[in-house]
Amino acid sequence: MKVLVLGAGVVGTAAAYYLCEAGHEVTVLERQPGAGLETSFANGGIVSAYTARPWASPDVPKMLLKWFGRQDAPYLFRLRADFRQWAWALRFLRQCTTERFEQSRAHSLRLSTYSYECFKAVRQAEAIDYDQRSEGVIHLFRTAKELDSAAAEETSLADERFHPQAIDMARCVEIEPALAQSRERYAGALLFAQDETGDAHKFTVALAGAAARKGVEFRYGVTVRRLLREGATVSGAETDRGPVLADATVMSLGSYSPLFLRQLGVRVPIYPLKGYSITIPTAGHDGAPLHGIHDGSYRLVMCRIGERLRAAGTAELAGYNRELTARRLQGILDATMAIFPSCGDASKAETWAGLRPMTPDCLPLLGQTRYRNLYLDTGHGSTGWTYACGSGRIIADIVSGRAPAIDLTGLAVDRF
Ligand SMILES: Cc1cc2nc3c(=O)[nH]c(=O)nc-3n(C[C@H](O)[C@H](O)[C@H](O)COP(=O)(O)OP(=O)(O)OC[C@H]3O[C@@H](n4cnc5c(N)ncnc54)[C@H](O)[C@@H]3O)c2cc1C
Repeated sequence: MKVLVLGAGVVGTAAAYYLCEAGHEVTVLERQPGAGLETSFANGGIVSAYTARPWASPDVPKMLLKWFGRQDAPYLFRLRADFRQWAWALRFLRQCTTERFEQSRAHSLRLSTYSYECFKAVRQAEAIDYDQRSEGVIHLFRTAKELDSAAAEETSLADERFHPQAIDMARCVEIEPALAQSRERYAGALLFAQDETGDAHKFTVALAGAAARKGVEFRYGVTVRRLLREGATVSGAETDRGPVLADATVMSLGSYSPLFLRQLGVRVPIYPLKGYSITIPTAGHDGAPLHGIHDGSYRLVMCRIGERLRAAGTAELAGYNRELTARRLQGILDATMAIFPSCGDASKAETWAGLRPMTPDCLPLLGQTRYRNLYLDTGHGSTGWTYACGSGRIIADIVSGRAPAIDLTGLAVDRF
């Protein structure tokens, strides 16, 4: 079957790879000159196989109030005269109950662990190098109360694979000496030894290369204008280079997906949630960590990518605006340098912002729409790299008429 994949972020690229493996003739349309150049470009670099959790959690409303009015707040809602933004924000806040959080977390972990198996298999099969590190990820907590509550939440899961190791700061510094200068800042940590880190962009480019070698055609510099509808089906996409026809179309345009689906009457609650990252060169400095680091109080993640330290985080509800706000970037840089004062040359830090394609329950939309040959593999939010391979494999199974390997409860297209 001829399958068209829209978007060559990490999600569309993974879908294209698995669709090709399943025997389809695959074409990918991407407006950028290469794969992974938008939200998949400079993300936090954490493969949260065992810690993927929805952001819509019971502590968010408290956090919004605590930081209200501050430009450097981890969560910042810049509400504007946009009905879709308000509607999304209300749906997101409605998800922040303990019961809904627990449900979404179960769906999230089912997908993330499956995705991790797919991820490991593909990286081995294609010999993909993406500056990966597997020391694990250390979650740091500033107060004993925060630490105890996080530990209780994690160990409440029946499956022991998800249980972290609680470590005091002395042990923390022993396994991660880069934390020596900031040990007084924290009450303790949880070590998630199975989570990994690396460069999502490098991974996406390598996976696109592997897919191309298998026969996927990547058409870069092509902008999709609209989906082509023919009665109850979709026959492809109209682009700035003319129409591209296919038997099936997979929507993976990230935050831009709803804009195209809406034209066909398919409404999906995906809204962009802007995040920022800084990347500090570490060559000649010896204070950057080897573990992934998560600072829960400021919602910041850090990871070593070759001779660079990436720090990413914060969530800003500000529409499709990708402007770099100096105050927010400075907040991330200051926090990073406070934890790792000798990690690298802060004056040479590179800055970036990306739009997370976020659904209110923070889970992707996977499957067939009411147009029988239009499929969604989008809405991967804050955890898209982690979910990408599993989602790609699932969508390839669905397009091929096979049952996916995991239960899609909580991930299917019709749940909203
Ligand atoms: C600050 C930050 C930190 C993050 N940290 C992590 C992390 O540590 N771990 C993790 O797992 N995830 C993380 N994420 C989330 C992850 O990066 C995203 O979920 C993921 O990149 C989304 O991939 P995507 O392919 O859906 O979207 P994208 O990468 O945005 O891909 C969509 C593609 O569609 C293309 N496109 C859009 N419109 C058109 C059009 N009209 N025509 C043609 N092409 C078009 C775009 O150019 C783009 O390449 C983070 C995100 C941010 C912002």
